Amino acid sequence: MPLTIVDHPLAKSLLTILRDRDTDTTRFRETAKRLSYLLVAEATADLPVVEVEVETPLEGAVGHRLGRDLVCVAVFRAGLGLLDAALDMLPDAAIGYAGVQRNEETAEPMEYYAKFPDMENARVLILEPMLATGGSLEWAISTVKEHGARDVSAVCVVAAPVGVERIEASHPDVRVVTAALDSQLDHNFYIRPGLGDMGDRLFGTT
Ligand code: URA
Repeated sequence: MPLTIVDHPLAKSLLTILRDRDTDTTRFRETAKRLSYLLVAEATADLPVVEVEVETPLEGAVGHRLGRDLVCVAVFRAGLGLLDAALDMLPDAAIGYAGVQRNEETAEPMEYYAKFPDMENARVLILEPMLATGGSLEWAISTVKEHGARDVSAVCVVAAPVGVERIEASHPDVRVVTAALDSQLDHNFYIRPGLGDMGDRLFGTT
């Protein structure tokens, strides 16, 4: 599986703001959105394009349009924090929602909601900011594939090695784009150093 770590100065500085425990909810949310633009740009960097003709105010020129439909799948709930930016970048994308809850004892995923558009001929971007054990993302990838998806990428903010290895083993065709590969998971399955609970920090819950 190609793992892409977005090694861009803007991504690094935005991620640092997200990691900072003193970043409040408002700033966290807007920073997550800014970082998402960079992650989505990377996750779509290899999309095919089709040449089109365009008339500038001065003369004709060769332009391009995207050669593939796009679907963004937000994994509840933290994936919602990346969705606005993804739709800013991909306004014609269809949207899917995947509700999965982590079993706090086993950290394994439990599905509670799934609703998808047609995904057969689309690049499907799964928005799953924290790739920890990989259980939720593995479930989301399997589920979108069961619904017809064939071209799947995951957009993450922070990944842990164990999660990356899990996706690599179960879905070697899926590209994972992340802003950082952190060192480990702790005994509560939080990514270290990480940024804490992404959902809580996005939505102001505890
Ligand atoms: N989910 C989070 O929000 N944070 C982690 O560190 C791991 C999973």
